[in-house]
Amino acid sequence: MTTADFYAFLLERGIKPSQQRIALLEYLVKHPVHPTADELYSRLSPMMPTLSKTTVYNTLRLFVEKGAAQMLTIDGRQACFDGDVRPHAHFFCKRCGRIFDLPLPEDMGAGRFPPGPERCCVEEVQLYYRGVCADCLGREA
Ligand SMILES: [Zn+2]
Ligand SMILES: [Zn+2]
Repeated sequence: MTTADFYAFLLERGIKPSQQRIALLEYLVKHPVHPTADELYSRLSPMMPTLSKTTVYNTLRLFVEKGAAQMLTIDGRQACFDGDVRPHAHFFCKRCGRIFDLPLPEDMGAGRFPPGPERCCVEEVQLYYRGVCADCLGREA
């Protein structure tokens, strides 16, 4: 994706594409490590001296509200952010704290999840796995 693609992506979701918003989205999409707001701030602030922590928090909140990013609460302490808004599951390693993306199998479309309560509108479904990753298991063996 190019900067023009990110610009169009934000516009499509009703978000005014400022330079800082484009930079935040681009970082999220190109680094699928599910950073927290603080991690995003510390990665981007050296390149963007005018960026404030408040801007990062507000921008992420706006992205989530408008469907331009997902918020994950998988690690139980702080929210992490994902620039991939397609439905996918996540695996959280409780040793190293990394979050891995898990594609949903082809035959596991939205219809295979339990339906939401009657007359309610489901806006978000999260599927979380927790455990110990292969790297951490290897270190212990
Ligand atoms: Zn691990
Ligand atoms: Zn993800």
